[in-house]
Amino acid sequence: MSTADVDEILRQAVITGCRELSRLGLSYGTSGNVSVRRDARAFFISPTGRSYESLAPEDVALTDLDGQWYGRSRPSSEWRFHRDIYAARAEVGAIVHAHPRHATALACTGRGIPAFHYMIAVAGGEDIRCAPYHTFGSQALSTAALAALADRRACLLAHHGIIALGGDLAAALHLAGEVENLAAQYCTALTIGGVRMLESAEMARVLEKFRSYGRADGPDPELRHAGESLPPR
Ligand code: 13P
Ligand code: ZN
Repeated sequence: MSTADVDEILRQAVITGCRELSRLGLSYGTSGNVSVRRDARAFFISPTGRSYESLAPEDVALTDLDGQWYGRSRPSSEWRFHRDIYAARAEVGAIVHAHPRHATALACTGRGIPAFHYMIAVAGGEDIRCAPYHTFGSQALSTAALAALADRRACLLAHHGIIALGGDLAAALHLAGEVENLAAQYCTALTIGGVRMLESAEMARVLEKFRSYGRADGPDPELRHAGESLPPR
């Protein structure tokens, strides 16, 4: 496949990702943005201020770590945090930013999501932090987001929304959905009152289990695979 073909696929992936944000109810209108890494120094990112339905692949600009962009449509106003994350985190292949209802409501109280539920571990640690508020598109917001993302794959942004990272776009979108689901559960638990937290030692166990979760060869000495065909009754 030619590099032009690969670029076209990546641009189309950004558009599909944007539309997925709407379909999943994670973003409303033009809020949110999506990017995928092209190589060590450049990434494709959704254009600023455009309805996702109107996008064509040529609207997805290539932006590099020096802030130069190539294409016909100006990149997202949040290109700085996309750039700074790609520059700092070699394992990241895609970034999703959105303003989903519950996670954003929580972020408007300045709170992240603590270890109220073991699934917090999906973001890579024992909590999901909330970065302090800074104006959208600013370098200060990018710097604060990067700090909140240390050793994590997701964070909240105070009075704003969320960022989710992935090795690829499917993973980043999936994580954005998980963060919103956790935020919805936490908001509900807060309204009931008396929420209790899991201890650090338990979260360390969960994080360890997550390293092999979902794998066919996951370690469990009491569970043995005895073949694909069923035994006689
Ligand atoms: P853009 O349309 O520039 O991507 O901005 C949307 C947004 O969510 C800003 O934080
Ligand atoms: Zn935003």
